[in-house]
Amino acid sequence: MAGEDQLYDRIIACTDGFARKDLARTVAIYGARLMGWLRGEGIALDNLGQYHTHVLSPAWRSGAGFKWDGYAGDVTMRTLEANLTKRGGAVLRGTRANTLRLATGGIDIEAAQPEGGAAFHAGAVVIADGGFQANMEMVRQHISPAPEKLLPRNGGTAMGDGLRMAQALGAHTAGMANFYGHLHSRDAMSNPLLWPRPQADDLAAAGIVVDADGQRIADEGYGGIYLSNAIARLADPLGTTAIFDQATWDGPPGRGHVQPPNPLLPAVGGTLHRADTIAALAALAGLPAPRLEETVSAYNAAIDAGTLAQLSPPRLGPAKAPTKAWPIKTPPFYALPLCSAITNTMGGIVVNGDAQVLDTAGKPIPGLYAAGSTVGGLDVGPHSGYVGGLIKACIGLRAGDKIGGVNE
Ligand SMILES: Cc1cc2nc3c(=O)[nH]c(=O)nc-3n(C[C@H](O)[C@H](O)[C@H](O)COP(=O)(O)OP(=O)(O)OC[C@H]3O[C@@H](n4cnc5c(N)ncnc54)[C@H](O)[C@@H]3O)c2cc1C
Repeated sequence: MAGEDQLYDRIIACTDGFARKDLARTVAIYGARLMGWLRGEGIALDNLGQYHTHVLSPAWRSGAGFKWDGYAGDVTMRTLEANLTKRGGAVLRGTRANTLRLATGGIDIEAAQPEGGAAFHAGAVVIADGGFQANMEMVRQHISPAPEKLLPRNGGTAMGDGLRMAQALGAHTAGMANFYGHLHSRDAMSNPLLWPRPQADDLAAAGIVVDADGQRIADEGYGGIYLSNAIARLADPLGTTAIFDQATWDGPPGRGHVQPPNPLLPAVGGTLHRADTIAALAALAGLPAPRLEETVSAYNAAIDAGTLAQLSPPRLGPAKAPTKAWPIKTPPFYALPLCSAITNTMGGIVVNGDAQVLDTAGKPIPGLYAAGSTVGGLDVGPHSGYVGGLIKACIGLRAGDKIGGVNE
């Protein structure tokens, strides 16, 4: 496992310095502790190699579509709930918190339950409702002019309640315009076999992504999460297409992932246009042929001349880009209609290194903590830098320690 300083440096680098230093340090310190805590609770972790060294078990890593029952997160949550129950705790299912009020000695909570309203009092509250990706109006306000044209690659439960309640108590927010997501076949909008995998991220990042006019829309070199955000910001998020060639389709961008688009994507019904010339490809994909030919030629010429950074929009050269630019020269050529899929929001409630929610003046709001995807101030930066999903449980663990007076 990477050391604390190494993890901290990676968090700062992947967010181009956006991450709060105290929060980045907490996540770096608590990474190992989180894995130890999970194991202590009876959660098995699989080592799948590369950076997948601590994956909730049993991991599902084959085929297309969505399988969750009996895997990873499902097993983990069932185990943790059973442990909590054994210790006298309870998960109140069907209970939706809707108002928080600062009160003497803690916080009053109002909630809705199937049988009516409920009220609670707690010395401390940890908001962990998962963000606001399922709230169309909030997504429209912060992320995309057309949220109905994004694929909801999520559980549909994160309505932004926590953010709203925290803001009502004066909480500061950060990074609201960004989300963690991926690129998929546009057919995933109606075909559940096409998400959450296979993804089209690596193909799009290796080739080019064009709009309905055949023009590139963003710097593909920053990868699938960045492109998902860039596409979501367009007037028509369902109007982009990835263009690449046979070498890319047969190489690591097409086949490198454990659940790769080649061959899964066409096998389960994803549209993939194929033609021997760019003009013929444009006709199949409904794109203007002269403009697409121009865009592809300019891109290939820039690779040859080492001038990718001078394209408009620029593309980082191979030395800097996380994903190398693959030429589009080996026929047949491919066009993959894309959609942008939102998994969870990256922005949200700002907390400090102790997981305490901060107000707009930077002071902790008494008794109020936040953890998980609802937290802002860790992910984001100019290139939608994503620190990770499950790893934000580190912030919850820190909140628990702070509330319990451990590791002060
Ligand atoms: C398809 C998919 C694949 C993923 N793959 C990975 C991966 O490989 N690695 C990784 O690290 N992460 C991955 N993630 C992301 C990871 O699942 C999330 O980062 C993580 O679940 C966030 O945890 P959370 O506790 O913040 O939110 P959630 O898991 O969303 O939990 C929030 C809970 O709060 C409840 N809630 C919401 N509003 C209220 C309210 N008002 N009152 C009471 N309760 C409320 C919700 O019902 C939910 O049970 C993936 C996510 C998806 C959808």
